[in-house]
Amino acid sequence: MTSMLLLGCDNPTVIRPDFAYDPTQLTGGQLYRWSTGARVRVFVEPMAAGGLELAGAVQRAVVSWNAVPQEREFTLDVVTNRDLADVIVYDRSIPQPVVSGSCPFSPSGAAGYTYFCPLNGRAERLRPLASTGFTTAIVIRVDMTTTATQAALDALVAHEVGHAVGIGGHSPQTTDVMYTRPTVRTPTDRDRNTLRNVLGRAADITL
Ligand SMILES: [Zn+2]
Repeated sequence: MTSMLLLGCDNPTVIRPDFAYDPTQLTGGQLYRWSTGARVRVFVEPMAAGGLELAGAVQRAVVSWNAVPQEREFTLDVVTNRDLADVIVYDRSIPQPVVSGSCPFSPSGAAGYTYFCPLNGRAERLRPLASTGFTTAIVIRVDMTTTATQAALDALVAHEVGHAVGIGGHSPQTTDVMYTRPTVRTPTDRDRNTLRNVLGRAADITL
């Protein structure tokens, strides 16, 4: 008989790039990401028809960020049931759609705000309004009055979704989607490398 070795190591062919900017700058050095292989369900609160399209912006952000993981470390999936959502996206014009968690929810006047609350190495689960379950780890609030065009809304949403998949920092380069006031709508190579680096590291906080 031949013997068989089962190796528990990571796929050695995957080269992890260096990050282009610090992905833990906003978290005091804490690296956060979804557990490997996670299907991340994203719900977008409905908006009145006729204005800028929040759902469309989220859908495009989901497609562009889903293209970044090298080993399907996460897959974002837009869902239609709020009660099953890991991530809820809403506009400032409607009431906060989840019951507040343990951390202060303080978007003040931000154009975009991504919230999660670390508790013992995990993101606390929040209860969507009118739900009985605690499912939601991340809440994204955007202020669509700050975006004059669909392109500007797309850039804002792409930026916030970048935070929601593990980039806890901002790029100093204006051409990156993770620049504080982004103008591009899809992750650049620098954004992609930064997230790929995060996905290859151990998390301090699992979403
Ligand atoms: Zn940001």
